[in-house]
Amino acid sequence: MTKIVVVGSYVVDLMCRTPHFPKPGETVLGGPFKMGPGGKGGNQATAAARCGAQVTFITKVGQDIFGKEALEHFQKEEMNTKFIKVDSEEPTGTALITVDKNGENSIVVALGACGKITEADVMEAEEVIKDANIVLLQLETSIEAVVTSVKLAQKYNVPVILNPAPYQEFPKEILKYISYITPNETEAFELSGIEVKDPQTALEAAKKIYHMGVQSVIITMGGQGAFLYTGEKEGKFIPSYKVEAIDTTGAGDAFNGGLAYALSKGNSIIEAVQFANSVAALSVTKIGTAPAMPYKEDIENFLR
Ligand code: ATP
Repeated sequence: MTKIVVVGSYVVDLMCRTPHFPKPGETVLGGPFKMGPGGKGGNQATAAARCGAQVTFITKVGQDIFGKEALEHFQKEEMNTKFIKVDSEEPTGTALITVDKNGENSIVVALGACGKITEADVMEAEEVIKDANIVLLQLETSIEAVVTSVKLAQKYNVPVILNPAPYQEFPKEILKYISYITPNETEAFELSGIEVKDPQTALEAAKKIYHMGVQSVIITMGGQGAFLYTGEKEGKFIPSYKVEAIDTTGAGDAFNGGLAYALSKGNSIIEAVQFANSVAALSVTKIGTAPAMPYKEDIENFLR
């Protein structure tokens, strides 16, 4: 089994349907209500584990019922949960999600404990990072955790995927230690100042990001697919799989988990992006984030 270390967020998704979004001061009777595991780190770790990797997930939860459920979830997904720390002060992260009758959503995230991952927390996992085939990071946690993970991976020559989501400022010096960066169109704009609409503008943005020091740039473009640039003249647009999309939340997380898995197995970068597209396509055919991640058998059947 290939070994993947994911460092990042865990939040509980608290989802409620509403006939309309409440105005300031208004209370709306909504429902149904659903609760489930979420957060970009946890979702990406779940996607990679279901593909078949041995995943170690480094995060922090609170000393509360949500924290206990998180541990149970990741144990059920057969991950190494040794580095899921419990913070004695901060609560487990939460995402308050309301979805209206048009399927539009509005989300407030309180990172809580997973926003407080420290350098020391990551350093404790030095041995597993040393031994990993790939390290997968997002920006939905403390920048201290991201920078420490990048430095450790660099120390042991372990390739790093950085999914710069949700975008927040970070020290750009780390980009030269990043093997693969995977912004969506919005994050590509934040990094490059170029609005990505099509493969041509994706190439312009990708070139700019590449020249910041990253080895490979992969811009995900929703239902269109993904654009790959590794320093050659033209780059390569890799189209998505056509599926009936029901819920596209978590598509980016499925993509990153799938990409990490394929790269950890030694697939070429083009093969890995194609595989990531298939994992993400399957995830949008189901409702939810972590629970919508496909299993190895689903992916094999889909690609047959
Ligand atoms: P999210 O924030 O919703 O998780 P994202 O903005 O990070 O997503 P996207 O660029 O929207 O990421 O999508 C990631 C990948 O998911 C795409 O590159 C594509 O492979 C796949 N994907 C997204 N939407 C669809 C769709 N409608 N049909 C097929 N594949 C899709």
